[in-house]
Amino acid sequence: MTILDTGIKIVRNVGRFTFGQGAVSGVKDLVASRRTDDHKHAVFLIDDYFQKITDTASSLGALPGDSVQFVGTVDEPTTQGIDALVAKLHGSGHDKPATVVGFGGGITLDTAKAVSNLLTNGGRAADYQGWDLVRVAGVHKIGVPTISGTGSEATRTCVMTNLDTGLKLGMNSDFTVFDHVVLDPSLTKSVPRNQYFYTGMDAYIHCIEALAGSYRNAIGDAYSRETVNLCRKVFLGDDMMNDELRSDLMVASYLGGCAIATSYVGVVHPFSAALSVVFGLHHCVANCIVLNAMQDFYPGAHAEFRKMIEKQKVTLPKNVCANLTDQLRTDLIAATIKHEKPLTNALGENFRATLTDARIISLFEKM
Ligand code: ZN
Repeated sequence: MTILDTGIKIVRNVGRFTFGQGAVSGVKDLVASRRTDDHKHAVFLIDDYFQKITDTASSLGALPGDSVQFVGTVDEPTTQGIDALVAKLHGSGHDKPATVVGFGGGITLDTAKAVSNLLTNGGRAADYQGWDLVRVAGVHKIGVPTISGTGSEATRTCVMTNLDTGLKLGMNSDFTVFDHVVLDPSLTKSVPRNQYFYTGMDAYIHCIEALAGSYRNAIGDAYSRETVNLCRKVFLGDDMMNDELRSDLMVASYLGGCAIATSYVGVVHPFSAALSVVFGLHHCVANCIVLNAMQDFYPGAHAEFRKMIEKQKVTLPKNVCANLTDQLRTDLIAATIKHEKPLTNALGENFRATLTDARIISLFEKM
C-alpha cells in the first residue's frame, strides 16, 4: 500500500449543469424554483469585484429579504472567515435558505460550498477539513463561475486555510459538489488579460501534472487529455479572449475540475503552494511562476508554456525569490515537501533523493 492508495475511490460529478452564452439569465428561475413556504429566502455569495455593478444580485434573482454577501478576494478562504460568514447568516435568520448561490471565481465558489455544508452540519469549518468528514448534505447550492481555470465548479472540495494551524485543506466530500452549475462564457469577457491567463493555466497545469504522474485513472486521463487540448487551442490561438476561445476555456475548466477529482497533481503545485504560504502569492499566478522554472521536470509543458505566454503577450512577476534569508529557505523547503502525495505521484516515494534541499532552493532562485 502506498500513500497514493489513500486517495481517490469515489467520484461524484455535479448534479446538473447549464452551458451557453446567456445561460446566466436562467439562474433567476432556478432560484425561484427552490423557494418554498418553509424556505423562502436565498443566500447569494458574490465576488466583491461585482459590488460596483449594482444590479448583479437582482439579475441572479435576489429578492428583498434574501441575504446578499460580497466575498473578498484579496486573500484565499480561511476557516475563520467561513465561520464568521456562517455566524452572520445565523444572526440574520438566513440559516435555512432555499439555496446558496456562489457567483465568482474559485474563492467565491469554494466559500459557497463550505457555507452550504456548515449550515446543515453545524460546528466549525476546521472540523471538516479532510476526507469525508461532512455528515449530511448541505443546503442546495448553485455555482456560477465568472473566470475559468481552477475547476472549483466541478470538484468535491473547497480549499480553506486554518489561520491558527496553517493547515490548507478542503472539505473533501460528495456533499461539497454543487447541485447545479451554470456555465456562461459571456461572464468572462471583462476579466483582466493577465488574470485570465494565469487562472486558465491552472487547468492546463493540473492536467499535465496528472498525465505525467504514476497514479492513473483511465477516465481522469481522458478528462485531462481533452482539457490540455482545449487549453492549447485557447492559449496558442490568436486571441485567447475571443468569444469562441472563452467558451472553450470554460469547458476546459469544468473538465479539468473533473480530472483533478480522479488524480493527483505533481511537482508544480507543491512549489506553488510554498510560494502562496511564504509570500502570499495567489494560487494561479504562483503556478505560472513555478512552471516557468520547471524545464527539468516538465520540458515539453515548459516549452509550450513559453510559447503560450509569448503569443498572448502576458507578463509574469520576476525574481519573486530574490534575497532569500536562511529562515525563508527553511520555510520554503518545509512548505514544499509537506505535499507528499503529489510529490510521490510525480517522483516516487523516494522523492527527496531528487528534491534535495539544495535542488529545491536552486529552483526557487530561478523564479
Ligand atoms: Zn491548482
